Amino acid sequence: MFGRQGVEYKTPAQIAAMRRAGVVVARTLEAVTNAVAPGVTPAELDAIASQHIADGGATSSFLGYEGFPATICVSVNEAVIHGIPGDMPLQPGDVVSVDSGAIVDGWHADAARTVIVPHPDESTTAHDERLVSATRDAMWDGIASLATVRRVRDVGAAIEASVDEAMATDEAQYGIVEDFVGHGIGSQMHQDPDVPNFAASSPRTRIRPGMCLAIEPMLTRGSGEVCTCEDDWTVVTVDGSTAAHWENTVAILDDGIFVLTEPDGGAAELAKRGVTLGMLVD
Ligand code: MG
Repeated sequence: MFGRQGVEYKTPAQIAAMRRAGVVVARTLEAVTNAVAPGVTPAELDAIASQHIADGGATSSFLGYEGFPATICVSVNEAVIHGIPGDMPLQPGDVVSVDSGAIVDGWHADAARTVIVPHPDESTTAHDERLVSATRDAMWDGIASLATVRRVRDVGAAIEASVDEAMATDEAQYGIVEDFVGHGIGSQMHQDPDVPNFAASSPRTRIRPGMCLAIEPMLTRGSGEVCTCEDDWTVVTVDGSTAAHWENTVAILDDGIFVLTEPDGGAAELAKRGVTLGMLVD
């Protein structure tokens, strides 16, 4: 099951279990992001996620992971990832990144979305909206690249190129967080190989059918430098700039790719990039 470089290649039945987990994650994130509003607390979002994951017959990948105390991560404004859902009510204009993982029959799926709490004056959130959109596009461009590139490191180059393009279009400076990267996923949430979000010389691991990868760019409106807070979990930008995080779990199949954590398998976004989906076997 494990290849030479420690990569776990999945069978079609294992990928089908990951798809079931992925559908639970997608529905959970939809419910949670729909509930984001002024006055709602991250702890309340966590309760919604907990209910959805249980109703979907799954368990949280995060709860208890190295002692993590909640079902999902909710990271607000300068928090990039790993925020512990707390009791501070969300404010208009807050940038809210929600990360969720679920397990079905021992197989994991992992995804994240960033949304902005509606603000009566839309102009105040325009720069953050563009950051969120650039991060989402970088994720999709990275995912689409899996259909054509040969090595895992090439995904990072595709993500960096996407960010460069967004910076030119938006006339803005975005920082790519380099301390945290995408990853292999399957019978554990985090597996080999790492998937960088920037052009890198490694990993040279070949992209092959049976691989499942979490693609997850994290961008900021400042530098990409981050540090971990005193709670030992929350990762924040050093310069206090706003951050966004998008993630999906993707399967490499014999005849193409399939996004396990999107209801449509990624069909709509990948079609825009000239990529058609592979066929998932149950
Ligand atoms: Mg992840």
